Amino acid sequence: MQALAHLYPLLQTPRKIVITMHQKPDGDAMGAALATFHFLKLLGHDATVISPTNWAKFLNWMPGCNEVTDYELHAEKCKELVNNAELLFCLDFNSMHRTKKLETVLLEAKCVKVLIDHHEAPVEEHFDYGASDIMKSSTCEMVYDFIMQSPFSDKINLDIAACIYTGIMTDTGSFRFAITSAQTHKAVVHLKELGLEHSIIHEKIYDNFLENRLRFIGNALLYHLEVLYEYNTALMAISKKDIMRFDIQTGDTEGLVNYLLTIQDIKFGALLIDRAEERKWSFRSKGNFDVNEFARLHFEGGGHKNAAGGRSLESIEVNIKKFKEVIKLYETDLA
Ligand code: 5GP
Ligand code: MN
Repeated sequence: MQALAHLYPLLQTPRKIVITMHQKPDGDAMGAALATFHFLKLLGHDATVISPTNWAKFLNWMPGCNEVTDYELHAEKCKELVNNAELLFCLDFNSMHRTKKLETVLLEAKCVKVLIDHHEAPVEEHFDYGASDIMKSSTCEMVYDFIMQSPFSDKINLDIAACIYTGIMTDTGSFRFAITSAQTHKAVVHLKELGLEHSIIHEKIYDNFLENRLRFIGNALLYHLEVLYEYNTALMAISKKDIMRFDIQTGDTEGLVNYLLTIQDIKFGALLIDRAEERKWSFRSKGNFDVNEFARLHFEGGGHKNAAGGRSLESIEVNIKKFKEVIKLYETDLA
């Protein structure tokens, strides 16, 4: 994988470009994809964004979001776009398997592949050019650097700023996580100077849910929260029954895992959700407990040191039993 700086000459002439991100894109994945989309269009390229799956409705306001194609709804069209592309941008994921059913299409594509990502252990051999940096707050911050270090930095505009801010804000927990750096804040200073209205973005992302989601959270906290004080760990499992009862949609459970870490002295929060095709784990930690390693070792997942995910085909009950067994191995780490 060559450094991103070597990619700039390839962007001097108009090309067919596909941009994609991880399945169930969050604010960072969607923000990075759309910021790149606007930037490349301004350079005269024929750019398209493909999402491997659907996404949370609270991202729909983002400039360009209405032009994103959902692979699960338009597989043939997406395959054609990828097969005709000269360049493929892969954003906010470290391995093609994070794109679910799109994986084989991307692996078989013959075009030049570019990675911009901040997750651990990227599969570098799948990419021709790229930047991978776990010290970066978000892929959006890396896309900002990619634009600003390019010979086309004057192209940055308010649409790009809004997309980049969304990813930085969501991946840093509104600038509170330790990964937030002086560079992150400096990027935001620049976005503000461009005219970014940050409070509107906070409202669109965080104050844009239906009543049922709040009642769902209340129900989950009241009935499904379990605190394992001996391991400074909080655990929550959400059944399909509750997902149906409260009409929970993609994105409605985002942020739920963070409530677990608000309990005094709790260092590890684990949320399990019964999704249609699999059981999905979300892990969050404070301090040195490495949930990326925990997810990789025990639940077929990964991510970052303080925020990771995993999955399993076993039932909720089997997963919870397994979790309560393996947590015993970490009693000292979590003390
Ligand atoms: P979340 O809990 O919000 O789904 O994910 C937290 C972090 O872990 C995100 O950065 C996400 O990209 C990563 N992540 C979530 N699920 C998986 C997974 O199954 N595999 C890997 N490698 N990373 C994941
Ligand atoms: Mn990210």
